[in-house]
Amino acid sequence: MATTSAKQKIQHDQMAPLDGPFRFACDPSVPCFKECCRDLDLILTPYDILRLKQGIGLTSETFIERYVVWDFSHEMGFPTAKLKMSDDDSKLCPFLGKDGCDVYVNRPSACRIYPLARATQKHARFDRTTDAYFLVRESHCKGFERGREWSIEEWKRDQGLDDYFEMNDLWTAVVCSPFKERRGKLSDNDLKAVFMAAYNPEMFRKFVFHSSLLDRIVIDDGEVEKMKSSERQLLKFGFAWLRFVLFGESTIKLRD
Ligand code: SF4
Ligand code: SF4
Repeated sequence: MATTSAKQKIQHDQMAPLDGPFRFACDPSVPCFKECCRDLDLILTPYDILRLKQGIGLTSETFIERYVVWDFSHEMGFPTAKLKMSDDDSKLCPFLGKDGCDVYVNRPSACRIYPLARATQKHARFDRTTDAYFLVRESHCKGFERGREWSIEEWKRDQGLDDYFEMNDLWTAVVCSPFKERRGKLSDNDLKAVFMAAYNPEMFRKFVFHSSLLDRIVIDDGEVEKMKSSERQLLKFGFAWLRFVLFGESTIKLRD
């Protein structure tokens, strides 16, 4: 596959529940190739940003300065990162190149999943999630008229979605904590914690390894070693730490 659309202002009449295979192809031969990578309301999850900044070779701070606009409309004040489109009338995605997506290997989740949409339901009592999928048929997209048939599982595999779903679901568990009702909007200090743990692994690394945090919590040596070498693992720990400090969840255990 080449570039896929990431249009997120989806109209409800463009979505239909998906209960079987679907036909789709997106490659340079489609007449609409690259047309969808503009004027997008494209949410970037913390893991999207991590992968993109690693792929481009930037620090989180520089990546965010260049490519992110923040939306604070979340009821609790959680910041939502969105990809900054070009300032001119074309409003192109900054990663759209001559031959398609320049960051294809690390493209965001929203670009990967199209033409599907996923809704998840968390069953707190059984600690499991169920997914429902929808087909999003945007009128300008000619990808439905060609290509092979895909099952949902085949599409997920082809687009590398399981890894993104795992990380994005962990982020959703922070933003949609079942304990969020017992506290009000995030304070300035809470926000600093969110920006550090979810969006700035370089700063969070310093906090984890150069403070007394690791002496005060119960944590496996193996996990500490993994965090030293993997920003992905550090981000996972950051999500658990945020649930602990923001909502008092038992995702982190203090030593006696
Ligand atoms: S990141 Fe790539 S696939 Fe996504 S909108 Fe930009 S150019 Fe298109
Ligand atoms: S086929 Fe659809 S996803 Fe692919 S470039 Fe055309 S509009 Fe975008």
